Amino acid sequence: MTRRLAWPGPEAANYESVLAFLCDTGLRAWVDQLRPQLLQAFGGGRHGDWPRWQSVLGRLPRPVARRVELNRPAVTVTGACEDGCRALLEALLRELHPWRKGPYALFGIRIDTEWRSDLKWDRLADAISPLAGRLVLDVGCGSGYHAWRMLGAGAGRVIGIDPTLLSVAQFLAVRHCAGDHPVSVLPVGIDDVPRNLRCFDTVFSMGVLYHRRSPLDHLLELKGCLRQGGELVLETLVIEGGRGEVLVPEDRYAQMRNVWFIPSCLTLESWLARCGYRAIRCVDVSVTTSAEQRSTDWMCFQSLPDFLDPRNPALTVEGLPAPRRAIFIAESP
Ligand code: SAH
Repeated sequence: MTRRLAWPGPEAANYESVLAFLCDTGLRAWVDQLRPQLLQAFGGGRHGDWPRWQSVLGRLPRPVARRVELNRPAVTVTGACEDGCRALLEALLRELHPWRKGPYALFGIRIDTEWRSDLKWDRLADAISPLAGRLVLDVGCGSGYHAWRMLGAGAGRVIGIDPTLLSVAQFLAVRHCAGDHPVSVLPVGIDDVPRNLRCFDTVFSMGVLYHRRSPLDHLLELKGCLRQGGELVLETLVIEGGRGEVLVPEDRYAQMRNVWFIPSCLTLESWLARCGYRAIRCVDVSVTTSAEQRSTDWMCFQSLPDFLDPRNPALTVEGLPAPRRAIFIAESP
């Protein structure tokens, strides 16, 4: 029998439905592990600001969503919403600052996030295997922007994971507006996912690899999540250079403290091959511009333009090559 626990806060229904789904998919062992992790995260035991974010979620007004559009640059929810309701909703959403990944348009409120995450989506959407009906895992999904886009592309169910509770709160706020859909964001990291689930049809890891101290272990963890023949979509920072070349910043990279390995494309390809992936291909390399990452009204802190050398934007303020990102697709054997 499934043990039901009293969920702290308003996010109960979302998690009961995804836990039931995981049980039905034969992943009860993961569910047993997840329940205490969810209780700890949402019980306020993991982050001092959680009670404040939870209180925001609890006060959100509930205008009626008439339409949810997941194939536009902004994840868009429309419906009847009076001016007073919209003003309250906007004030509460702003309490979840900083909004990094998006954009969203919720009942006429345009959340212009730090990142135009739609541009990354546009770079990969035509290159990946069609998502229709697929079970998808998005590792390091942030506020879940791409998870909504995956659903819009026809995925059967999308499970995002992200240990950052503010991002999870932002997802829950968007979900509150959009209503019940087969998309969830679990407040856990990849280390909390049991090894070798081998059940997902597609696994995304975007913007995560360079935060990992053991990048090959990360590639193996991702492989363990994929079913045989499943597809990995990997997006990460790269440098220009040949096979074997990799940048290990001595300290910060573009002001980020937790950047460990930035390989060349050829090096990354060799890592994927070494980890046993097949049909490895690089489908895009792009230099990140301030059209894609910048400070906005919804993310008031510093952003990319502040992290580049003002005399030479090809370099970061630390004198390292400026951010350049690649998207790789590979198949799990
Ligand atoms: N995938 C999104 C967000 C990238 S930002 C995009 O491409 O736009 C990187 C995200 O990884 C952050 O939200 C961070 O909280 C998350 N993250 C950090 N460590 C993680 C871990 N161990 N497991 C899963 N996600 C992690």
